[in-house]
Amino acid sequence: MGDSSDAFLLGLNRQEVAELVDRAGEPSYRAQQIMDGVYRERVQSLDQISTLPLRFRENLAQCGITVGFPAIQQKFVSQDGTVRYLVAFNDGQSVETVWMPEGDGGEAGDGTEAGDSVERSEGNSGPGTSGAKALAEKDEPIAALTRCATQNHRATICVSSQVGCAVDCQFCLTAQLGVKRNLSAGEIVGQVCAVLNDQKVSPPRDRINLVFMGMGEPFLNYENFIKAVRLLVEEVGIPESRMTVSTAGIVPRIQDFGLEPIRPKLAISLNASNDELRTRLMPLNRKWNLEKLLAAARDFPLRNRERITFEYVLLRDSNDAVQNAEEVVELLRGLRAKVNLIALNSGPGIEFATPAPQSVVAFQKVLTAAGIPTFVRRPRGRDIFAACGQLKRTLEIRPAEAPST
Ligand code: SAH
Repeated sequence: MGDSSDAFLLGLNRQEVAELVDRAGEPSYRAQQIMDGVYRERVQSLDQISTLPLRFRENLAQCGITVGFPAIQQKFVSQDGTVRYLVAFNDGQSVETVWMPEGDGGEAGDGTEAGDSVERSEGNSGPGTSGAKALAEKDEPIAALTRCATQNHRATICVSSQVGCAVDCQFCLTAQLGVKRNLSAGEIVGQVCAVLNDQKVSPPRDRINLVFMGMGEPFLNYENFIKAVRLLVEEVGIPESRMTVSTAGIVPRIQDFGLEPIRPKLAISLNASNDELRTRLMPLNRKWNLEKLLAAARDFPLRNRERITFEYVLLRDSNDAVQNAEEVVELLRGLRAKVNLIALNSGPGIEFATPAPQSVVAFQKVLTAAGIPTFVRRPRGRDIFAACGQLKRTLEIRPAEAPST
């Protein structure tokens, strides 16, 4: 056992657990019992892995090996059902993880599983049917709603990859924190496990979508991010087709990512329609400009029916004109792409304003008319600072919009 992060089971893959079991002189089937306990049952302590003999559990504990399950430090519930969690790790650092019972519309229309959910909601268990009504009568309303939404296949967890962020996008609150540190693979998986347990849902029985769009830039913590993805797919049981990672545009990692045998879908934060504008909004554009970024997108090996998502945060009078939309059409020409438009979520210290509703509509029209599927993301949890770009470990909720309960 080398550095202190080795002392956690959460984050170890099958091979690493097998090694640990071997070194402890235990029979090899113990590895499966540990994997099941940590990733399927999502236990919070060694004591809860009841299949392991007491002396082995004690032996592990004596070596300083624990599960490494993160703590939910705070929980904010939005009027729209979104929940923002402050998840704390061993060294006292924390990140935010967001639960969206109905997704935010960003998962729609990419031709893969997650977007097909409403059409494929099953039999009479869908909302508005007698099944759902019976549930609602039995359970308390919030639990019943959550369950319906889960059956609707849109429940989405927004996962963080770093404490803070180094990319410095001018419209994003997380940027104001700077980057504190990378999360380990175990900490990335741990956020998901903590939220699944708190929401009392369990894949693969419940369909859960993951978006790696929380705090941080996943492609600046590439190895840990990819290891976490593999654990989430192979051990926790969430299919890769239900996962999307968003990058600000770290070009060399986009290329690496395309070669991964197990990978989420790719989203790229475009946010501007020309280099001058993009460099102003996202300073990393100096290093990887639009030409390099779009070349990487063109070379990206897409799977059957897959599209690359381009996210575009609309900022009033900065990047939201019809002319910007026309430039985006030119940039994306020939790409198998879809666009998610996000109206700016404002916050303290952000110099930009939310676009007028009619400019969002006009922008979308230009793209749609050019044959690019374009969706407007519904802001989720704005009242509790849980929406895109608002994750800053804020301990308040907006007073004016604070729910009364
Ligand atoms: N670092 C990654 C993932 C996190 S940001 C990335 O940049 O893609 C997730 C999305 O939220 C990005 O598309 C980003 O452009 C957008 N975003 C950032 N700040 C925002 C804000 N204030 N309002 C709306 N969307 C924002």
